[in-house]
Amino acid sequence: MLEPACYDIAQGESILSAMKVMRKSRPDLVLTAWSMPDGTAIDLREAMDKIDPDREIPIIAISRPGDTADRQSALRAGLADILVHPLDETMLQARLRSILRSRLNAAAYDFSDSPMTAEHAAPGFAEPVETFARNDRIAVVAHDPVLAQKWCAELGAQLNQPVAAYALGQRHAILGAPRPPDALIVALDGTRPDPALRLLADLRAGSATRHVAVIAVPVAGAAEAAAHALDLGADDVMTGPFEAGELALRIQAQLRRKHLSDRLRLTVRDGLRAALIDPMTGLYNRRYAIPHLAHTVRRSAKSGKSFAVIMADLDHFKRINDSYGHLAGDAVLVEAAARLRDALDRQDVIARIGGEEFLIVLRDVDAAKAHRKADKLRRAINAEPFQLSPSGIREHVTMSVGVAICPPASERDGYGFPDDPDEPQITALLREADQALYESKHGGRNKVTVVGAAA
Ligand code: GH3
Ligand code: MG
Ligand code: MG
Repeated sequence: MLEPACYDIAQGESILSAMKVMRKSRPDLVLTAWSMPDGTAIDLREAMDKIDPDREIPIIAISRPGDTADRQSALRAGLADILVHPLDETMLQARLRSILRSRLNAAAYDFSDSPMTAEHAAPGFAEPVETFARNDRIAVVAHDPVLAQKWCAELGAQLNQPVAAYALGQRHAILGAPRPPDALIVALDGTRPDPALRLLADLRAGSATRHVAVIAVPVAGAAEAAAHALDLGADDVMTGPFEAGELALRIQAQLRRKHLSDRLRLTVRDGLRAALIDPMTGLYNRRYAIPHLAHTVRRSAKSGKSFAVIMADLDHFKRINDSYGHLAGDAVLVEAAARLRDALDRQDVIARIGGEEFLIVLRDVDAAKAHRKADKLRRAINAEPFQLSPSGIREHVTMSVGVAICPPASERDGYGFPDDPDEPQITALLREADQALYESKHGGRNKVTVVGAAA
């Protein structure tokens, strides 16, 4: 059954031989008989956890008639699922695909092959995940409102918390909710599965709903629809008949997985943010500013509008450090950054690219407008003295500004637009703006100099 999917397969005949095989090749998934000569699938789980406690390899057990497989204790022991022999091939394939896909998603956050291992992982990666949060919201949706109510009551009793019921006709209430449920149980009616399957597909496509944990529960012989549901992105399918205790366990497992992946996603987002933002001033840093400038160059070639690159540098800043100390210097930088940010518009990007040096990119501006804005920035620093300490020392600070106006590619010669890689253009633009800044410094500081083809 597995061969057509081109999986790389290794086999063993007992727990002992399986462990030997797994020492050589680490599988992404284990398919096992419920009972083997030397133990059950739960014993295999324990043996595997002992060898590699950090890597939870999913196990699917297959129970045969006559096995005493207790589904609930198996799920509680951490098995991914228990399928019943004879296997439905479509369902088995879909189950494998869904588990492997979910592992690939998790692997995107796996840094175990980088120097950041579990012991010294960034905060957020190493902390234990709460198994089941009390304020998780759970809902059931079914074709038949009476069935939805019945499942809600049984589940609510198992989970000891309220569960919301929806009829399939209320799909807008689920898809359009400002805060959708954390876990959604979808009843799959084997005789008319399409509306439920469509709801599943829509859930996965919605920005607010795509991370909802979805468990499909087939009723009335919906094996094929169940396989389809997994391929459409259901996180789990109840493979046995409806049983509230088992479903509660599956919900808890899915919520645990969801909390972990939610947090990993946020941690990565925070990390990305931190990599692009200067912690002292909250402005972007060079790592953000240079690609933004490159993007602005490409954008201008398309829009046919010119843009401006501004370099600004506080005057005689060293004196502030020398006279009042480094901390006072820092306070001036923070205040200067806030004033500059306030003087700009939303679409303007400002970055701190050096100690007391700022890079500003203004899109869709001509020379006159760029000049006005640069002068507004200069005045924002010059207008009011800076408060240096709570005791009231105030210091006048000025800033010199250099502006390079960059006409769109079509109107410009000498840069080799538009086929050249960005880098030489970016370097040339920064040098132009720097040259203009240098002129402002030499012209007596607290000045704006504009250069460039259209200046
Ligand atoms: P100029 O008008 O020619 O720009 O003179 P300047 O003194 O501002 O220029 P210079 O480049 O000689 O000195 C910049 C100073 O900025 C030197 C350094 O100590 C200070 N500096 C750089 N980064 C920081 C920082 O994060 N905090 C503080 N307090 N000072 C910084
Ligand atoms: Mg300076
Ligand atoms: Mg400087």
